[in-house]
Amino acid sequence: FTSIELTRACLERIRRLDSKLNAFITVSEEQALAAAQAADSARAVGQGGALTGIPIAHKDIFCTRGVKTTCGSRMLDNFIAPYDAHVVERLKAAGAVMVGKTNMDEFAMGSSNETSFFGPVRNPWVDTAVPGGSSGGSAAAVAARLVPAATGTDTGGSIRQPAALCGISGLKPTYGRVSRYGMIAFASSLDQGGPMARTVEDLAWLIEAMAGFDPRDSTCVERPVPRYAAGIDAPLTGLTIGLPKEYFGEGLSPAVGDLIQAAIDVLHRLGAQIKEISLPNSRLAVPVYYVIAPAEASSNLSRYDGARYGYRCSQPRDLEDMYERTRSEGFGAEVKRRIMVGTYVLSAGYYDAYYLKAQQVRRMIRDDFIRAFEEVDVIMGPTAPTAAFDLGEKTSDPVQMYLSDIYTIAVNLAGLPALSIPTGFAAGRPVGLQLIGNFFAEERLLNVGHRYQ
Ligand code: GLN
Repeated sequence: FTSIELTRACLERIRRLDSKLNAFITVSEEQALAAAQAADSARAVGQGGALTGIPIAHKDIFCTRGVKTTCGSRMLDNFIAPYDAHVVERLKAAGAVMVGKTNMDEFAMGSSNETSFFGPVRNPWVDTAVPGGSSGGSAAAVAARLVPAATGTDTGGSIRQPAALCGISGLKPTYGRVSRYGMIAFASSLDQGGPMARTVEDLAWLIEAMAGFDPRDSTCVERPVPRYAAGIDAPLTGLTIGLPKEYFGEGLSPAVGDLIQAAIDVLHRLGAQIKEISLPNSRLAVPVYYVIAPAEASSNLSRYDGARYGYRCSQPRDLEDMYERTRSEGFGAEVKRRIMVGTYVLSAGYYDAYYLKAQQVRRMIRDDFIRAFEEVDVIMGPTAPTAAFDLGEKTSDPVQMYLSDIYTIAVNLAGLPALSIPTGFAAGRPVGLQLIGNFFAEERLLNVGHRYQ
């Protein structure tokens, strides 16, 4: 196939199916066809690599020069970035063809895509169900075959949980592996971009293009990028997989538990040793995250003041009125909740009791993993405690919503890489298997995931 043919096929499917799914906020047809043409010309003279001419979509949190970037918010409904995010630049340089920008929870705050200003996304498998979030548009777009691959971001599970709920694969890289430049900030010490696709092999090609040093992100690590796809077939003999007992207790749906047990048996047959381990501070991950992430968000989101870019209220009386009305009209309820929590935990009187304490417990959570990786190569468990829930089911209870990330959040607090891959269906809804690796052990994760797949 030529890239023009592939790109036209994607655009056609989007046209046919997306009015129902709502996975895209923007479709950039003209730019896509021009990029596809360029990719075909490059291929005609023998240039280009694995991704040349492949259509992809970007989560609408990545800035794209000349194409609107909303971050799922009214605040940025009219925002066109003057530059590309590092990830966008890298994938463009690798020849990938962007067909559009995907729907997401507002500022990536959510686990169901229901906080988006542009409306919820439907799960392609069951149309009453959520796709997960916050990268729900990317997950649904890949699952419905609107595009073969998409980017996502993961601050507390936002690549892995929607990948699991939509039955696709997603990789959250080690913190610092992928540059955050041009990726709209939510909680900077946790945010990490990564790929979403149908297969683990596709993830390997994508992460190879996305990873690498970028001086514009001070936390981006200068370290060679492996050829991730090269080692993907290695046998699993000698591999030790740890099962944290805390990931199999109360709260895990029995149907999901059974599928994970079946996956354990398969990996055992493939040659892996299975070992029970403990991550004793696991139950503290959600409360610690909901102090640290809102604290960082309250600071990051202070830039949306109506003065510089994005939404501005009409006819402000004075500066104070402009700030106040711009922010009350531009942000949705979940974002406001986070800003209030974050401002509270950072305030002079409560800083020590909440923020400082959360930072201390964050270190303990990280140390649990470091200790576990002295005994095992990979940690395995469910990605989410249940399969996809129904639209509206958890919107009135934020705590229930936050608990959909109980198995994903600790990984972000520790800065580790993790992979979610499909492992069957519970009552017609996809279930994900999570593999957690040591720092920069993405190659190992992709190898195990690929062998399993
Ligand atoms: N669901 C979590 C939250 O609402 C994680 C979101 C994310 O990873 N961006 O904050």
